[in-house]
Amino acid sequence: DQFGIQASLKRLGIKPENLGASTGVNWIDSGESSFSSFSPADGRLIGKTQATNQEVYEQVISQAQIAFERWRQVPAPQRGEIVREIGNALREKKADLGKLVSYEMGKSYQEGLGEVQEMIDICDFAVGLSRQLYGLTMHSERPGHRMYEQWHALGIVGIISAFNFPVAVWSWNAALAWVCGDVCVWKPSEKAPLSGIACQQIAGEIFEKHGMPEGICSLVNGDYKVGELMSNDARIPLVSATGSTRMGKLVAESVGRRLGRSLLELGGNNAIIITENADMDMAIRGALFGAVGTAGQRCTSTRRLIIHENVYEEVKKRLSSAYGKLVIGNPLDEKNHVGPVIDKDAVNMYLAAIEKVEEEGGKVVVEGGVLSGEGYESGCYVKPAIYEAENHFEIVQHETFAPILYLIKYKTLAEAIRLQNAVPQGLSSAIMTTNMREAEAFLAVSGSDCGIANVNIGTSGAEIGGAFGGEKETGGGRESGSDAWKAYMRRQTNTINYSSTLPLAQGIKFDI
Ligand code: NAD
Repeated sequence: DQFGIQASLKRLGIKPENLGASTGVNWIDSGESSFSSFSPADGRLIGKTQATNQEVYEQVISQAQIAFERWRQVPAPQRGEIVREIGNALREKKADLGKLVSYEMGKSYQEGLGEVQEMIDICDFAVGLSRQLYGLTMHSERPGHRMYEQWHALGIVGIISAFNFPVAVWSWNAALAWVCGDVCVWKPSEKAPLSGIACQQIAGEIFEKHGMPEGICSLVNGDYKVGELMSNDARIPLVSATGSTRMGKLVAESVGRRLGRSLLELGGNNAIIITENADMDMAIRGALFGAVGTAGQRCTSTRRLIIHENVYEEVKKRLSSAYGKLVIGNPLDEKNHVGPVIDKDAVNMYLAAIEKVEEEGGKVVVEGGVLSGEGYESGCYVKPAIYEAENHFEIVQHETFAPILYLIKYKTLAEAIRLQNAVPQGLSSAIMTTNMREAEAFLAVSGSDCGIANVNIGTSGAEIGGAFGGEKETGGGRESGSDAWKAYMRRQTNTINYSSTLPLAQGIKFDI
């Protein structure tokens, strides 16, 4: 145990066998057989957890409904104070939780720590927000009348999260939902259930310490079947789901059928436009981290480089040389740049994509392949690959959740923007240029059609202060900063008549 994983697991309260559902500090035995979490880093079993069945699910939802009655009455700044303490508890557990995330998901330890830092940051943001849940006031058209709007808590927020950000996505939703007065039921990815258990334990203890009822923060582990219980459940007014577009379409359908609300954070197919006016060192650095960081498993990973013909060969050469220096190996070892993909299914998807791009006429620039031998026993380590491709290739139109980068050549900026937008997804985008006209054209209404558009930084990663999310098949949801909190509340418009007559709006006369 060279990286001290067992000690971290112990401090986080993770056991070899864990119950899979909780309403706070209480854990519920479903009697179901448990499922295993293996590390893609070394292939070892980390621990097991139970799946949630219908009966336990009902128990969790009933408790959440009871808790909501109480929690919504707690003044928002006091709710913020509790979230502040959750942030502090995360500060204390940052190293252990970051390590578990890295070990269970396969991202580098630095990125694991970064993910926990994001959770801390969103808690801080939510604390401030707890005193700023502002509504507007309007001037009434009627004399002696006053109009305003207020924001009320919604109820139970269901959170379904993906494997690649096994903990941060929960906190983006939960921290905001809690200060808004909602209670949360979280179904983590079945590929990273132990990271979820660790977070539940951290938050559950803080609510208990404050004498709050069970049910404000709940966890239901399991696969898509538990997710389906949530999306079909009319007691959950908002389902926030992060994952593939395939999943998002199914969730949107189920939630839509009952006219509930869904907040969808789905796949991306992110491009960087590198113009002939780019600062080339910055462009290469941005493209490299964007394409190979987290082994290409970020929703914001760079999948396409759209490069001006005059700098195309230079970019190709410099990137190939940088790829040649990448060290692939255990993500907990800080000398490595690239860790594993999540599991063997992901390896097979990566291989299938390589086969497909070759079949469609793509030309290899940096060859891929699966690594074997010492240090690669899990079978989940793949070589980041680069292909010259055309934007219209079927495989280029598709998000392959692995480190494969496509190079595409352009002549005019208008063509580059058209290519950048010509995919079904609309999450993150970037332009590398020192030319103000190019940058502004990219940001204009006729520029990038994505939820995120950057200048001189890559597509990958985002700060919590901005609203995060994307258009088209990315699902349209916005989470985290700015006014994303509004999705977690219901708006009420109030008109108050303090006069002694009852005039109707629009001057309508109705006298008897
Ligand atoms: P996935 O779609 O396989 O699973 C995501 C979650 O949805 C899991 O918890 C899963 O159990 C659940 N689920 C699957 N089918 C469901 C159904 N029919 N009903 C209800 N729940 C269901 O995704 P993944 O492989 O875990 O994650 C990778 C994907 O997530 C990529 O497409 C990536 O781009 C996307 N992602 C998007 C964002 C974003 O903010 N836009 C962030 C992270 C990941």
